[in-house]
Amino acid sequence: MLAPTAWALMPSTPTPGGIAVLTLPPDAQSASYEDYPIWLIHEDDRAVALVGLGLDAKPGPHQLNWQDAEGHVRHLAFTVEDKHYPTQKLTVPPKMVDLDVATLERVRQEQSRIRAALTYYRPTSGDFPWPLAQPAAGPTSSPFGLRRLFNGKPRKPHSGLDIAAAEGTPIQTPAAGIVIDIGDFYFNGKTVFVDHGGGLVSMYCHLSSFAVQKGESLQPGQLLGQVGRTGRATGAHLHWGVALNGNLVDPALFLAAETAAQP
Ligand SMILES: [Zn+2]
Repeated sequence: MLAPTAWALMPSTPTPGGIAVLTLPPDAQSASYEDYPIWLIHEDDRAVALVGLGLDAKPGPHQLNWQDAEGHVRHLAFTVEDKHYPTQKLTVPPKMVDLDVATLERVRQEQSRIRAALTYYRPTSGDFPWPLAQPAAGPTSSPFGLRRLFNGKPRKPHSGLDIAAAEGTPIQTPAAGIVIDIGDFYFNGKTVFVDHGGGLVSMYCHLSSFAVQKGESLQPGQLLGQVGRTGRATGAHLHWGVALNGNLVDPALFLAAETAAQP
């Protein structure tokens, strides 16, 4: 069993796509960033805010808002540092890049549905689930943050971690949670969204099949489905996304202890 303070080993990564670990006075009651509630951990002599930073976070000064014991809103300035992510060139069928009007409309609707899932917030008193086990066995085939050119055209950067695995490989939730949405999306294919509480949401894309239903409560390690290549996938793999306070961050940050433990 991991000690409940295991998260304290998580390094602060105040960069686009990172997690800033910020120290507040012990009387901090709550905190918010970009109007979104922040995961707050209370210790004897301090409170710790875990702030997820999107890939679009601008390097420079940022501000965390927090409430003291009297309910006064106070501010903590912190700095987001620049981080360079490499560029990846991908070739996909033209219909996956140049969308017709009907498909564009479908994608727009799906984007707002995905946004709703990734910004889902449920208060929790549980421990921050860190580190996490990798949800499927296999090597990383595409890291988080790559700037991407599809058929020579710039598209959104890679906001998750790709794990290469054969079709049918089991995918397990690395932490307890609730299935808040499930569906078959144009780009992401068959996808499961798991709410872990406190503004931590994970997503699993391109599945060949589902093993859970919307609304289901999950125990750590429970089967979510199987690896596939549905949606815009050049081969069978799991795209794993992790959102913290509504921002997609690098899932590898949650695997740090395991990585460090290896010789
Ligand atoms: Zn991916």
